[in-house]
Amino acid sequence: MHEAVLYDRLDDGRVRCRVCPWDCQIGPGEKGRCQVRENREGTLYALNYGLVAAAALDPIERRGLYHLFPGSMILSLGGWGSNLSCRYRPANPALPPAEKTRTLDPEKAISFAIDRRCRGVAWGFQEPITWLEYLLDSAMLVRANGMFTMMITNGYATQEALDLLGPYMDAYIVELPALSPRDYAALCPEAQVDIILANVVHMQRQWRCHIELHTPLIPGRNDADEAVNDLAVWIRDTLGPDVPWHLWRYEPAGELADQQATAPESLAHAREVGAMAGLRYVYVQTAQEGGLTSTLCPACGNVVVHREGQFKVKLTGLEGNKCSQCGQEIYLRRSIFK
Ligand code: SF4
Repeated sequence: MHEAVLYDRLDDGRVRCRVCPWDCQIGPGEKGRCQVRENREGTLYALNYGLVAAAALDPIERRGLYHLFPGSMILSLGGWGSNLSCRYRPANPALPPAEKTRTLDPEKAISFAIDRRCRGVAWGFQEPITWLEYLLDSAMLVRANGMFTMMITNGYATQEALDLLGPYMDAYIVELPALSPRDYAALCPEAQVDIILANVVHMQRQWRCHIELHTPLIPGRNDADEAVNDLAVWIRDTLGPDVPWHLWRYEPAGELADQQATAPESLAHAREVGAMAGLRYVYVQTAQEGGLTSTLCPACGNVVVHREGQFKVKLTGLEGNKCSQCGQEIYLRRSIFK
Protein backbone atom coordinates (compact mmCIF):
# COMPACT_ATOMS: atom_id res chain seq x y z
CA MET A 1 0.00 0.00 0.00
CA HIS A 2 1.49 3.32 -1.06
CA GLU A 3 0.97 6.43 1.05
CA ALA A 4 -0.28 9.37 -0.96
CA VAL A 5 1.58 12.63 -1.33
CA LEU A 6 -0.01 16.05 -0.95
CA TYR A 7 -2.55 15.62 1.79
CA ASP A 8 -3.29 17.08 5.21
CA ARG A 9 -4.51 15.31 8.30
CA LEU A 10 -7.64 16.98 9.69
CA ASP A 11 -9.64 16.61 12.89
CA ASP A 12 -11.63 13.46 13.57
CA GLY A 13 -9.32 11.29 11.46
CA ARG A 14 -10.31 12.98 8.23
CA VAL A 15 -7.79 13.95 5.55
CA ARG A 16 -7.76 16.57 2.81
CA CYS A 17 -6.27 15.63 -0.58
CA ARG A 18 -4.44 18.43 -2.44
CA VAL A 19 -3.91 16.71 -5.80
CA CYS A 20 -6.79 18.22 -7.73
CA PRO A 21 -9.26 21.10 -7.32
CA TRP A 22 -12.00 18.92 -5.83
CA ASP A 23 -10.07 19.28 -2.59
CA CYS A 24 -11.73 16.16 -1.19
CA GLN A 25 -12.08 15.90 2.57
CA ILE A 26 -12.16 12.18 3.18
CA GLY A 27 -13.43 10.47 6.29
CA PRO A 28 -11.92 7.29 7.76
CA GLY A 29 -12.65 4.30 5.52
CA GLU A 30 -13.80 6.54 2.68
CA LYS A 31 -12.43 7.25 -0.77
CA GLY A 32 -12.05 10.53 -2.63
CA ARG A 33 -14.08 11.47 -5.66
CA CYS A 34 -11.63 9.70 -7.98
CA GLN A 35 -12.18 6.43 -6.08
CA VAL A 36 -8.47 5.62 -5.98
CA ARG A 37 -7.42 7.49 -2.82
CA GLU A 38 -8.57 6.08 0.49
CA ASN A 39 -8.31 7.23 4.06
CA ARG A 40 -7.25 4.35 6.28
CA GLU A 41 -7.04 5.34 9.93
CA GLY A 42 -6.03 8.90 9.17
CA THR A 43 -3.49 8.09 6.46
CA LEU A 44 -4.29 8.67 2.81
CA TYR A 45 -3.26 5.89 0.44
CA ALA A 46 -2.99 5.82 -3.34
CA LEU A 47 -4.80 2.57 -4.11
CA ASN A 48 -3.79 2.71 -7.76
CA TYR A 49 -0.02 2.92 -7.35
CA GLY A 50 1.59 0.64 -9.95
CA LEU A 51 -1.76 -0.74 -11.14
CA VAL A 52 -1.86 -0.66 -14.91
CA ALA A 53 -5.15 -0.72 -16.78
CA ALA A 54 -3.69 -0.33 -20.28
CA ALA A 55 -0.28 -0.45 -21.94
CA ALA A 56 0.70 0.01 -25.57
CA LEU A 57 3.76 0.41 -27.78
CA ASP A 58 2.95 2.85 -30.55
CA PRO A 59 4.33 5.64 -32.67
CA ILE A 60 3.90 8.88 -30.73
CA GLU A 61 1.41 10.05 -33.37
CA ARG A 62 -1.01 7.40 -32.10
CA ARG A 63 -1.32 9.44 -28.90
CA GLY A 64 -2.06 12.59 -30.85
CA LEU A 65 1.34 14.29 -30.59
CA TYR A 66 2.82 15.61 -33.80
CA HIS A 67 5.51 18.07 -32.81
CA LEU A 68 7.44 16.12 -30.19
CA PHE A 69 9.97 13.60 -31.53
CA PRO A 70 7.81 12.87 -34.60
CA GLY A 71 7.86 9.26 -35.76
CA SER A 72 9.33 7.91 -32.53
CA MET A 73 8.12 4.83 -30.68
CA ILE A 74 6.79 5.32 -27.16
CA LEU A 75 5.41 3.25 -24.31
CA SER A 76 1.96 4.46 -23.21
CA LEU A 77 0.58 3.49 -19.83
CA GLY A 78 -2.81 4.05 -18.29
CA GLY A 79 -3.88 3.45 -14.71
CA TRP A 80 -7.12 3.57 -12.77
CA GLY A 81 -8.93 6.60 -11.54
CA SER A 82 -10.50 9.68 -13.03
CA ASN A 83 -11.40 13.00 -11.47
CA LEU A 84 -13.76 14.41 -14.12
CA SER A 85 -17.01 12.96 -15.35
CA CYS A 86 -17.48 14.43 -18.79
CA ARG A 87 -20.80 13.76 -20.44
CA TYR A 88 -19.24 12.89 -23.78
CA ARG A 89 -17.06 10.11 -22.35
CA PRO A 90 -17.98 6.65 -21.07
CA ALA A 91 -18.50 6.44 -17.30
CA ASN A 92 -15.29 6.10 -15.32
CA PRO A 93 -14.53 2.46 -14.57
CA ALA A 94 -14.21 1.47 -10.91
CA LEU A 95 -10.97 -0.04 -9.61
CA PRO A 96 -11.24 -3.80 -10.27
CA PRO A 97 -10.86 -6.39 -7.50
CA ALA A 98 -7.25 -7.12 -6.48
CA GLU A 99 -7.10 -10.48 -8.29
CA LYS A 100 -7.91 -8.76 -11.59
CA THR A 101 -5.39 -5.95 -11.39
CA ARG A 102 -2.04 -5.94 -13.18
CA THR A 103 0.98 -4.47 -11.44
CA LEU A 104 3.92 -2.85 -13.18
CA ASP A 105 6.42 -1.10 -10.96
CA PRO A 106 8.27 1.90 -12.40
CA GLU A 107 11.59 0.04 -12.81
CA LYS A 108 9.99 -2.75 -14.84
CA ALA A 109 8.05 -0.31 -17.00
CA ILE A 110 11.18 1.68 -17.81
CA SER A 111 13.23 -1.50 -18.53
CA PHE A 112 10.50 -2.61 -20.88
CA ALA A 113 10.56 0.76 -22.66
CA ILE A 114 14.37 0.61 -23.00
CA ASP A 115 14.29 -2.99 -24.29
CA ARG A 116 11.74 -2.00 -26.93
CA ARG A 117 13.89 0.99 -27.96
CA CYS A 118 11.25 3.55 -27.02
CA ARG A 119 12.24 7.20 -27.06
CA GLY A 120 9.71 8.20 -24.43
CA VAL A 121 6.89 7.21 -22.10
CA ALA A 122 3.36 8.63 -21.99
CA TRP A 123 0.82 8.40 -19.21
CA GLY A 124 -2.78 8.75 -20.28
CA PHE A 125 -5.87 6.67 -21.07
CA GLN A 126 -7.46 7.40 -17.67
CA GLU A 127 -6.59 10.64 -15.90
CA PRO A 128 -2.90 10.46 -14.92
CA ILE A 129 -3.03 13.11 -12.20
CA THR A 130 -4.92 10.65 -9.99
CA TRP A 131 -1.88 8.39 -10.49
CA LEU A 132 0.43 11.12 -9.20
CA GLU A 133 2.74 9.07 -6.97
CA TYR A 134 3.38 6.46 -9.66
CA LEU A 135 3.76 9.13 -12.30
CA LEU A 136 6.31 10.97 -10.24
CA ASP A 137 8.46 7.91 -9.49
CA SER A 138 8.24 6.78 -13.12
CA ALA A 139 8.92 10.15 -14.71
CA MET A 140 12.09 10.61 -12.66
CA LEU A 141 13.36 7.23 -13.86
CA VAL A 142 12.42 7.85 -17.48
CA ARG A 143 14.25 11.15 -17.56
CA ALA A 144 17.26 9.65 -15.75
CA ASN A 145 17.46 7.16 -18.62
CA GLY A 146 17.50 9.86 -21.28
CA MET A 147 13.96 9.36 -22.54
CA PHE A 148 11.21 11.95 -22.76
CA THR A 149 8.00 12.07 -20.74
CA MET A 150 4.49 13.24 -21.49
CA MET A 151 1.14 13.22 -19.76
CA ILE A 152 -2.18 13.29 -21.58
CA THR A 153 -4.60 14.89 -19.20
CA ASN A 154 -7.85 16.73 -18.66
CA GLY A 155 -5.78 19.40 -16.91
CA TYR A 156 -7.82 19.31 -13.70
CA ALA A 157 -5.04 19.41 -11.13
CA THR A 158 -3.66 21.70 -8.47
CA GLN A 159 -0.56 23.66 -9.40
CA GLU A 160 1.03 22.12 -6.34
CA ALA A 161 0.66 18.66 -7.93
CA LEU A 162 1.90 19.91 -11.28
CA ASP A 163 4.91 21.50 -9.65
CA LEU A 164 5.95 18.08 -8.35
CA LEU A 165 5.84 16.71 -11.89
CA GLY A 166 7.07 19.78 -13.75
CA PRO A 167 10.83 19.19 -13.48
CA TYR A 168 10.44 15.71 -14.99
CA MET A 169 7.74 16.33 -17.61
CA ASP A 170 8.58 17.20 -21.23
CA ALA A 171 5.09 17.47 -22.67
CA TYR A 172 1.69 18.34 -21.28
CA ILE A 173 -1.14 17.34 -23.58
CA VAL A 174 -4.56 18.61 -22.62
CA GLU A 175 -8.03 17.74 -23.79
CA LEU A 176 -9.92 21.02 -23.89
CA PRO A 177 -13.47 20.68 -25.24
CA ALA A 178 -14.54 24.27 -24.56
CA LEU A 179 -13.20 27.63 -23.47
CA SER A 180 -16.10 29.38 -21.79
CA PRO A 181 -16.99 28.32 -18.24
CA ARG A 182 -20.61 27.78 -19.27
CA ASP A 183 -19.79 25.57 -22.27
CA TYR A 184 -17.18 23.61 -20.35
CA ALA A 185 -19.46 22.99 -17.39
CA ALA A 186 -22.22 21.84 -19.76
CA LEU A 187 -19.89 19.07 -20.95
CA CYS A 188 -18.03 18.34 -17.72
CA PRO A 189 -20.43 19.35 -14.91
CA GLU A 190 -19.12 21.34 -11.95
CA ALA A 191 -15.58 21.55 -13.29
CA GLN A 192 -13.94 24.97 -13.58
CA VAL A 193 -12.25 25.51 -16.91
CA ASP A 194 -10.32 28.54 -15.63
CA ILE A 195 -8.19 26.23 -13.52
CA ILE A 196 -7.40 24.07 -16.56
CA LEU A 197 -6.45 27.08 -18.66
CA ALA A 198 -4.22 28.45 -15.90
CA ASN A 199 -2.53 25.04 -15.59
CA VAL A 200 -1.71 24.86 -19.29
CA VAL A 201 -0.12 28.29 -19.15
CA HIS A 202 1.75 27.36 -15.98
CA MET A 203 3.19 24.17 -17.47
CA GLN A 204 4.31 26.03 -20.55
CA ARG A 205 5.85 29.04 -18.82
CA GLN A 206 7.08 27.66 -15.53
CA TRP A 207 8.19 24.19 -16.66
CA ARG A 208 8.80 24.81 -20.37
CA CYS A 209 6.63 21.85 -21.29
CA HIS A 210 5.80 21.19 -24.88
CA ILE A 211 2.04 21.76 -25.24
CA GLU A 212 -0.44 20.29 -27.70
CA LEU A 213 -4.20 20.65 -27.29
CA HIS A 214 -6.97 18.26 -28.24
CA THR A 215 -10.59 19.19 -28.80
CA PRO A 216 -13.30 16.64 -29.58
CA LEU A 217 -15.72 18.48 -31.86
CA ILE A 218 -19.22 17.57 -30.68
CA PRO A 219 -22.06 18.54 -33.00
CA GLY A 220 -24.32 21.17 -31.47
CA ARG A 221 -22.22 21.39 -28.30
CA ASN A 222 -18.93 23.05 -29.15
CA ASP A 223 -18.73 23.26 -32.94
CA ALA A 224 -20.27 26.72 -33.52
CA ASP A 225 -17.91 29.04 -35.39
CA GLU A 226 -17.79 31.48 -32.51
CA ALA A 227 -16.80 28.82 -29.97
CA VAL A 228 -14.15 27.36 -32.29
CA ASN A 229 -12.79 30.79 -33.09
CA ASP A 230 -12.68 31.81 -29.41
CA LEU A 231 -10.67 28.72 -28.55
CA ALA A 232 -8.28 29.28 -31.45
CA VAL A 233 -7.77 32.93 -30.49
CA TRP A 234 -7.09 31.96 -26.89
CA ILE A 235 -4.45 29.45 -27.99
CA ARG A 236 -2.87 31.99 -30.35
CA ASP A 237 -2.77 34.85 -27.87
CA THR A 238 -1.97 32.92 -24.71
CA LEU A 239 0.15 29.95 -25.73
CA GLY A 240 1.33 31.12 -29.13
CA PRO A 241 0.34 30.46 -32.76
CA ASP A 242 2.75 27.52 -33.05
CA VAL A 243 1.03 25.38 -30.43
CA PRO A 244 -0.56 22.46 -32.31
CA TRP A 245 -4.30 22.02 -32.05
CA HIS A 246 -5.92 18.67 -32.83
CA LEU A 247 -9.60 18.56 -33.69
CA TRP A 248 -11.04 15.14 -33.09
CA ARG A 249 -13.99 13.45 -34.68
CA TYR A 250 -16.44 12.77 -31.89
CA GLU A 251 -17.63 9.17 -31.62
CA PRO A 252 -20.87 9.07 -29.58
CA ALA A 253 -20.35 7.76 -26.07
CA GLY A 254 -21.37 8.31 -22.48
CA GLU A 255 -24.46 10.38 -21.72
CA LEU A 256 -24.34 11.80 -25.25
CA ALA A 257 -24.48 8.39 -26.91
CA ASP A 258 -27.48 9.43 -29.01
CA GLN A 259 -25.54 12.36 -30.40
CA GLN A 260 -24.35 12.27 -34.02
CA ALA A 261 -20.70 11.69 -34.83
CA THR A 262 -18.88 14.73 -36.19
CA ALA A 263 -19.25 15.14 -39.95
CA PRO A 264 -15.95 15.35 -41.91
CA GLU A 265 -17.07 18.73 -43.33
CA SER A 266 -17.48 20.15 -39.81
CA LEU A 267 -13.95 19.10 -38.90
CA ALA A 268 -12.52 20.56 -42.09
CA HIS A 269 -14.46 23.78 -41.50
CA ALA A 270 -13.29 24.07 -37.89
CA ARG A 271 -9.74 23.57 -39.10
CA GLU A 272 -10.22 26.49 -41.47
CA VAL A 273 -11.56 28.63 -38.64
CA GLY A 274 -8.50 27.78 -36.55
CA ALA A 275 -6.13 28.56 -39.42
CA MET A 276 -7.93 31.84 -40.16
CA ALA A 277 -7.48 32.81 -36.51
CA GLY A 278 -3.75 32.48 -37.05
CA LEU A 279 -2.88 29.02 -35.71
CA ARG A 280 -0.09 27.49 -37.78
CA TYR A 281 -0.65 23.82 -37.02
CA VAL A 282 -4.26 22.64 -36.88
CA TYR A 283 -4.95 18.96 -37.48
CA VAL A 284 -8.01 16.86 -38.01
CA GLN A 285 -7.93 13.53 -36.26
CA THR A 286 -10.28 10.68 -36.98
CA ALA A 287 -10.39 7.12 -35.73
CA GLN A 288 -9.66 6.01 -39.27
CA GLU A 289 -6.70 6.93 -41.38
CA GLY A 290 -7.11 9.86 -43.71
CA GLY A 291 -7.45 12.87 -41.40
CA LEU A 292 -5.58 16.09 -42.16
CA THR A 293 -2.46 15.01 -40.39
CA SER A 294 0.67 15.99 -42.30
CA THR A 295 2.70 18.94 -41.05
CA LEU A 296 3.14 21.71 -43.60
CA CYS A 297 5.65 24.51 -43.45
CA PRO A 298 3.60 27.56 -42.40
CA ALA A 299 5.65 29.78 -44.73
CA CYS A 300 5.79 27.89 -48.04
CA GLY A 301 3.40 24.93 -47.61
CA ASN A 302 6.12 22.29 -48.12
CA VAL A 303 5.23 18.97 -46.45
CA VAL A 304 7.84 18.73 -43.71
CA VAL A 305 6.40 15.68 -41.94
CA HIS A 306 4.28 13.38 -44.06
CA ARG A 307 1.76 11.26 -42.19
CA GLU A 308 -0.73 8.74 -43.37
CA GLY A 309 -3.09 8.41 -40.46
CA GLN A 310 -1.31 7.83 -37.19
CA PHE A 311 1.13 5.11 -38.14
CA LYS A 312 3.09 5.99 -41.28
CA VAL A 313 5.33 8.95 -40.62
CA LYS A 314 8.15 10.30 -42.77
CA LEU A 315 10.24 13.37 -42.07
CA THR A 316 10.32 14.48 -45.68
CA GLY A 317 11.09 18.19 -45.71
CA LEU A 318 13.29 19.02 -42.75
CA GLU A 319 16.85 20.12 -42.29
CA GLY A 320 17.26 20.10 -38.55
CA ASN A 321 14.15 21.91 -37.35
CA LYS A 322 13.90 24.03 -40.51
CA CYS A 323 11.93 23.61 -43.69
CA SER A 324 14.29 22.21 -46.32
CA GLN A 325 12.61 24.31 -49.00
CA CYS A 326 12.50 27.82 -47.52
CA GLY A 327 14.44 27.64 -44.24
CA GLN A 328 11.43 28.51 -42.03
CA GLU A 329 11.86 27.34 -38.44
CA ILE A 330 9.31 24.59 -37.70
CA TYR A 331 7.92 24.25 -34.20
CA LEU A 332 9.31 20.88 -33.14
CA ARG A 333 10.87 19.56 -29.98
CA ARG A 334 13.45 16.88 -30.55
CA SER A 335 15.58 17.27 -27.45
CA ILE A 336 14.98 16.39 -23.83
CA PHE A 337 16.81 19.54 -22.75
CA LYS A 338 14.24 22.16 -21.82
S1 SF4 B 1 -7.17 13.37 -6.57
FE1 SF4 B 1 -9.03 12.28 -6.00
S2 SF4 B 1 -9.12 12.38 -3.75
FE2 SF4 B 1 -7.64 13.92 -4.43
S3 SF4 B 1 -8.83 15.85 -4.57
FE3 SF4 B 1 -8.83 14.90 -6.60
S4 SF4 B 1 -10.68 13.63 -6.70
FE4 SF4 B 1 -10.29 14.14 -4.55
